[in-house]
Amino acid sequence: MALAQIGVTGLAVMGRNLARNFARNGFTVAVHNRSAQKMHSLIEDHGDEGTFIGSESLEEFVASLETPRKVVVMVQAGGPTDAVIDALVPLLDQGDIIVDAGNALYTDTMRREKDLASKGLHFVGSGVSGGEEGALLGPSIMPGGPAESYVTLGPILEKIAAKAEDGTPCCVHIGPDGAGHFVKMVHNGIEYADMQLIGEAYDLLRQGLDLEPAEIADIFAEWNQGDLESFLIEITAEVLRQTDARTGKALVDVIKDEAGQKGTGRWTVKSGLDLGVPITGIAEATFARAISSQVAQRQAARGVLAGDAQEFAFESRDAFIEDVRLALYASKVVAYAQGFDQIRAASDEYDWDIALGDMAKIWREGCIIRARFLDRITEAFERDAALSSLLVDPYFVDEVAGSVAAWRRVVAQSALTGVPAPAFASSLAYYDSLRAERLPAALIQGQRDFFGAHTYKRVDAEGTFHTLWSGDR
Ligand code: NAP
Repeated sequence: MALAQIGVTGLAVMGRNLARNFARNGFTVAVHNRSAQKMHSLIEDHGDEGTFIGSESLEEFVASLETPRKVVVMVQAGGPTDAVIDALVPLLDQGDIIVDAGNALYTDTMRREKDLASKGLHFVGSGVSGGEEGALLGPSIMPGGPAESYVTLGPILEKIAAKAEDGTPCCVHIGPDGAGHFVKMVHNGIEYADMQLIGEAYDLLRQGLDLEPAEIADIFAEWNQGDLESFLIEITAEVLRQTDARTGKALVDVIKDEAGQKGTGRWTVKSGLDLGVPITGIAEATFARAISSQVAQRQAARGVLAGDAQEFAFESRDAFIEDVRLALYASKVVAYAQGFDQIRAASDEYDWDIALGDMAKIWREGCIIRARFLDRITEAFERDAALSSLLVDPYFVDEVAGSVAAWRRVVAQSALTGVPAPAFASSLAYYDSLRAERLPAALIQGQRDFFGAHTYKRVDAEGTFHTLWSGDR
């Protein structure tokens, strides 16, 4: 029998669909899962979609692959990934490639890559976005690892990746070792921010205009025809339109308001802190999920903490809807600008040489944050690859300029009415901080010098200075 060009081990929802995607694209795919039943059911259910070689043991699985072997590992991140890699290593030969397509922490990927490189193996940590549907129909793929491995692996991944409107595959070699998983992590962080911003827009519309979820679904569907067109806006309309079969109510009203998280948002925020990059939109979104899950604290505070809130005040229903749309758009630009800053900072820190424009390109289709807007970001980095912030690209300067008055009105309404919009508010504060002539950081430097002799710099002279604050201290 012919050998397989690619293998997938780990056939839960993601691995199964990825294996089917390879097969549908004409590759012979070796498939394996710890418990063999998942492998058999894949072949039973979908064997007619292409050529699969199923193996019950890892030894047979590896033996069924052509060299250099390309093994995609699609299991739970952390310990399970290490266990599978450890079991594979003795079965592989120099030059073989292990692709970890799970959501690994990039520092784990850096460690694994170093370890496997010392054994003569290529290790490619690859982000895969788009959920189960993306894995089957074409995900956005973010492979890291050695550039050399991309020569053989790249064409296979590009074949199964989503394609942008212009036909470009949503897959590119991101950079060495952990670069792919880092970029996927930031992608997920931006996804957190995007979802939170949409949530805040919904809440303001609901409470400000006293609308039913289905009416707000219509607003989102309309927004999806314009600059905000994106997968997340599209599914928001569908979620809001959904009726609960059990009660007949809007489904969103019977879902507990406690947002879960699997950890990639938290990883992004931690990395932002480590790199010193203010990713405030992603952080607010991550903390907003955490607040929502503080059930006991919320219970204790409800009805106890004073609101002293005002009624919503706006010119007209349509004017308020447009203000919220513009506030959402401007806040979204901030979240992406910050995410790209974080990727640039990590690329500098680890010498990854990541082309920021390529990130926008491969997120245009296949992934959860796919959006029309990403074409504009791609164009911005094509105009200037060394752009200091997405916010200063001429296109986005104009776009945000046209939104800023509405953004301020919405944040002010949120504060006055007590309807929380933390991501809107903090994005606006970030924008204002960037454009400020002077920040109160001067005072902070004075305080630091006062209590700790930390010194400060002057606006009118080079060097560092210390003041003897008062003679008797
Ligand atoms: P999952 O639930 O994260 O993992 C289940 C798979 O891991 C099963 O195949 C299981 O084998 C295997 N496994 C667990 N421990 C193992 C061990 N010690 N040794 C060998 N195999 C082990 O599956 P998933 O949802 O398909 O996700 C796979 C990866 O993709 C994860 O890293 C996830 O974070 C990432 N991801 C998921 C999504 C998504 O939408 N679900 C999107 C992007 C990325 P058994 O069947 O034998 O238990």
